[in-house]
Amino acid sequence: MKWIYKFARFMNGRYGIDELYKFLFKIYIILLIVDIFTKNNIIIYLELIVFVFMFYRFFSKNIKARKKENKLYLKIVKIIKKPFLNIKRNIDDKEHIYKKCSKCKTLLKLPLPDKIGIKHVKCPKCKKRLTVFCYRKEKIEIITNNKYKNS
Ligand SMILES: [Zn+2]
Repeated sequence: MKWIYKFARFMNGRYGIDELYKFLFKIYIILLIVDIFTKNNIIIYLELIVFVFMFYRFFSKNIKARKKENKLYLKIVKIIKKPFLNIKRNIDDKEHIYKKCSKCKTLLKLPLPDKIGIKHVKCPKCKKRLTVFCYRKEKIEIITNNKYKNS
């Protein structure tokens, strides 16, 4: 049991696991698998770099810097995911259509039509007419509004 206390004391004040660590771990596993099939020197070097960086961050005592790295990583992920967010919503939600207003960028949640047909809806925020495939006439719900959120 003694080594557990030693390890706990060693880990005291060190950074540990975060989202970036998990991402690096996945990359490392992928590289390991690729390495089995290719036996490429570049892959081995990449593996080593990822491994060292992963553990450097894990044992790091500069928590502020590591948190900053993780924050940057999450920011990049968010930017990459953003264009696919509406596509994902439209696939997941079987009862609504999600459309962003081209003028004020408000995300509109529209009821799904009974039949496919072109419909014009008015954005409740900026009153711009939008063309969507929608049939039923229901109240349009606002989910997010980037422009007015911080005011
Ligand atoms: Zn609008």
